[in-house]
Amino acid sequence: MMNSHYCFQCGQVLEIKHLDQREREVCTVCGWVYYAQLKVGAAVVIENDNKLLLLQRSYEPWKGSWMLPAGYVEADENPMDAARREVFEETNLVVDDIEFFQVYYFSDDPRGNGVTFVYKAKSISGELRINNESSAAQYFAWKDVPSYLTKGGHDQVIAEWILAARQRDLQ
Ligand SMILES: [Zn+2]
Repeated sequence: MMNSHYCFQCGQVLEIKHLDQREREVCTVCGWVYYAQLKVGAAVVIENDNKLLLLQRSYEPWKGSWMLPAGYVEADENPMDAARREVFEETNLVVDDIEFFQVYYFSDDPRGNGVTFVYKAKSISGELRINNESSAAQYFAWKDVPSYLTKGGHDQVIAEWILAARQRDLQ
């Protein structure tokens, strides 16, 4: 179980109780229950000439690994809007047309378990320029994708992209 939290309503230290068939943090003063929920992320597959755009992380976790342009979805944000926003923030590219691709569940991120909505950019515009979250940005052919990939769902998406791109190449 996780570290103790404080009651959102009255500030009391929460206690772990058995509730709804599982352990939950509960306030024994006012009855408030902390329902831990999944994080939500959004990521975008951007291709150019059968190559996939990846960014190299400049921060932990997984500093130096390669990922799709991605980030957390804000609490009042549509995941598709978050995907577009993250692409623009991280690459300066504007996603003109986007389509839903897949949802991935991940349980290997030290910041918490979650789901990532993955979209495919159908067309983009603008000039590629990274911000300080990345140390590099590069389009990779499937054969050249680096082996150190970001976890938290990125490695799953990228592995699937490699398989599909490889298949396409062999046809
Ligand atoms: Zn309370």
